[in-house]
Amino acid sequence: MAGLTTRFAPSPTGPLHLGHAYSALTAWDLTQAGGGRFLLRIEDIDQARCHPVHEQAIHDDLRWLGLLWPTPVMRQSDRLPAYRAALDRLAQMGLTYACTCTRADIRAALSAPQEGAPFIGPDGPVYPGTCRHARHMAQGAAIRLNMDAALDTLATLPAFTETGPLHTGHHPLDAETLRASVGDIVLARRDIGTSYHLSVVLDDAAQGVSLVSRGEDLFEATAIHVLLQAVLDLPTPTYHHHRLVRDDAGKRLAKRDDARALARYRADGLSPADIRALLGL
Ligand code: GLU
Ligand code: ZN
Repeated sequence: MAGLTTRFAPSPTGPLHLGHAYSALTAWDLTQAGGGRFLLRIEDIDQARCHPVHEQAIHDDLRWLGLLWPTPVMRQSDRLPAYRAALDRLAQMGLTYACTCTRADIRAALSAPQEGAPFIGPDGPVYPGTCRHARHMAQGAAIRLNMDAALDTLATLPAFTETGPLHTGHHPLDAETLRASVGDIVLARRDIGTSYHLSVVLDDAAQGVSLVSRGEDLFEATAIHVLLQAVLDLPTPTYHHHRLVRDDAGKRLAKRDDARALARYRADGLSPADIRALLGL
C-alpha cells in the first residue's frame, strides 16, 4: 500500500523476544510493498518499569534485524504536555472526572451483592462509577472517561477497518458493548498522568500512523482507541492485528522469557534470516 505509515511501539521494560521480532517485522513488511514509512516509538510512560538499557537494546536488536526508521524517535515520556492538553480538552467537554478509588475500593464496590458478577473487559473490571458525581480535585487523583457522556457527544458511532487475517473486515463500535464491557476507563493514572489508551491514540495521530500493526492481544482495546479518536476529532487508522508467538506449551511469550530474547539468538550465531524462518515469515 503506497503512502502508508506503520509503527512498532515497544515498552523498554525488558529484552525484545521472538514475539517482538514478529511484531516489528510484520509492521515493517507491510510498508515494504509500496514504499510506506515504518516508525519506531518508545512507550515509556511507566518510568518505574522502563530502563535505558532496554531502550538501547531495542535499537540494537531492530537494527540487527535490518529495520530502518526515521530519527528522532518519539518517546512517550517527552509527550506529557500533549497528553495533559488532551485531558484538559476532555475535561472542558465535561467528559472526564477525578477518581480517588484504590484498587481495593473498586474490588469492594464490585463485590457488593447488588452488583452481580463484575464484568472483566479489555481494560479489566468495569468501574462501578463510584466517583462519577463526587467532584474530587483532579490533583493526585486518577482521571476517568465518563463513557455515557462520551457516547452522547457522537451523533453516529465510528467504525474501523481491520486488515489482519484474524478479524478482517469492517467493525462498527457498539454503544452497549462499550458501556457494559469498557465503561469509565482511566485516561490518566495518578502516578503517571496518562494511560496506555490515551497516549497511543494521541501518538498515532501525531505521527500520522495510517496502519496500526500490533498483536492480537490488543484487538479488543481497539474499540476504546477508535472511540477516543472520534471524541477528540482524530483520524481513525486502519488496524492490522497479527497472531501472537507462543512457546512450545502454547503460552504467549513474555518479557521474562529471556531464553527467547533476540539478543540470545544473535549471540548463538543465528542470522536475521534465521529469525524470519523461525517465525514463519
Ligand atoms: N506498547 C505496547 C506493547 O508493548 C504496544 C502498543 C500498541 O502497539 O498499540 O504492548
Ligand atoms: Zn473513584
